[in-house]
Amino acid sequence: MSKGKMYVVSGPSGVGKGTVVKGLLEKYSEIFLSVSATTREKREGEEEGINYYYKGKQEFTDMIEKGEFLEWAKFCENYYGTPKKPVEKMLDAGKDVLLEIEIQGAMEVKKNFPESIFIFIAPPTVNDLLERLKGRGTEPEDVIALRVETAKKELGFAKEYDYIIVNDIVEKTVEDFISIITAERLKTERCIDELEVLK
Ligand code: 5GP
Repeated sequence: MSKGKMYVVSGPSGVGKGTVVKGLLEKYSEIFLSVSATTREKREGEEEGINYYYKGKQEFTDMIEKGEFLEWAKFCENYYGTPKKPVEKMLDAGKDVLLEIEIQGAMEVKKNFPESIFIFIAPPTVNDLLERLKGRGTEPEDVIALRVETAKKELGFAKEYDYIIVNDIVEKTVEDFISIITAERLKTERCIDELEVLK
């Protein structure tokens, strides 16, 4: 059995990644979504082990030192990281894995696992993004300001990704995402060994 593929999805804060990923998993359940660890405060409605594993700074630093992360990054004053073990387990079992991570972490994955597939979700316009960030109402003013600055910088990294999807209509974005996964699964190198007619 061939190993699973790692899909990395990024996009600026406020682009609607969370909604896209949720929509994707509802329609396409054969992919494992990695749950990250973070030092940021839990937002209202979020749950431990579902949205994130919430860690103290020291605990997070210990995990870094023990090599427990596949990648990690500091983003807007907080730490975020992908726990290595569950991802490796899924890939070894032939299951595809999805990482929803920011750009520095994605670039780290690109360096260490270049065979992964990188998808960038872009907003239709910059204004769209600003409106969404301000309208979310989950963060104080200074946090929003930092996220807006970071988002503008992040847009410049789109060219590093294999695919870009403009998130105009969520349903369409999800469809595009599924098309990418489907095409990747149909690649000769991935399916030739299982091809009945060649056995
Ligand atoms: P938020 O605080 O809005 O949940 O996430 C902030 C940013 O951190 C988002 O761009 C999100 O994709 C990213 N992020 C979430 N988990 C990870 C992770 O494990 N590693 C990295 N590098 N970024 C992450």
